[in-house]
Amino acid sequence: MGYVVKAPAIVGVPVHGSSDQFPVRRIFCVGRNYAAHAREMGHDPDREPPFFFSKPADAIVLCADPKNPTKIPYPPATKNLHHEMELVVAMKSGGADIAVDKALDHVFGYGCGLDMTRRDLQNQAKDMGRPWDMGKGFDNSAPIGVIYPASQIGHPAKGTIQLDVNGKTRQKSDLNALIWSIPETISYLSGLVTLAAGDLIYSGTPEGVAAVGKGDTLQGFVDGCGTVSVTYV
Ligand code: MN
Repeated sequence: MGYVVKAPAIVGVPVHGSSDQFPVRRIFCVGRNYAAHAREMGHDPDREPPFFFSKPADAIVLCADPKNPTKIPYPPATKNLHHEMELVVAMKSGGADIAVDKALDHVFGYGCGLDMTRRDLQNQAKDMGRPWDMGKGFDNSAPIGVIYPASQIGHPAKGTIQLDVNGKTRQKSDLNALIWSIPETISYLSGLVTLAAGDLIYSGTPEGVAAVGKGDTLQGFVDGCGTVSVTYV
């Protein structure tokens, strides 16, 4: 049996130390998961329950080479494109209602990602009580580096997360500043949807989000989890 139109391709992300790729099923993103970023966005970070939004799988752009940043067109319909540097979790299995102490058993590995945000559209949506999709889930909105298997690097719970723009540091924090840890995030999300192999979770951004323009080069890293490198054109 065929398809009536050309079937969309599986989006694959390179895996460190392998010639095989990680197949992306869905992309979930955590809102406000570092206290200082919650404060800069005007919220009280005192462990409000985590909340989630998603991006389509084909928002992924492979951006793993720091010597040759991937060129991405500046997106349409915005005058305020923001960077959000994040640790990305790649799931090898899933389920519903995963216990916190079992959550890491479902993780394949980790990488670096950017949750690119049309902040003007997101703020307009917030003001009008509308969905965030066009502020968050637009084309090329999910740059990512290489996935590092947990079998090689373990499960990072601390370590620097940093983003430089044109050589100047804009965001710098530590994974130990996450309000909701990775196991807590997986557990909570699995109470809302049934997680599955191929799901990516962008785990939230630290403080320092700001606008980027055409010609800007973004270089991010998370200790032990590689890099993500983009130039907007
Ligand atoms: Mn984010």
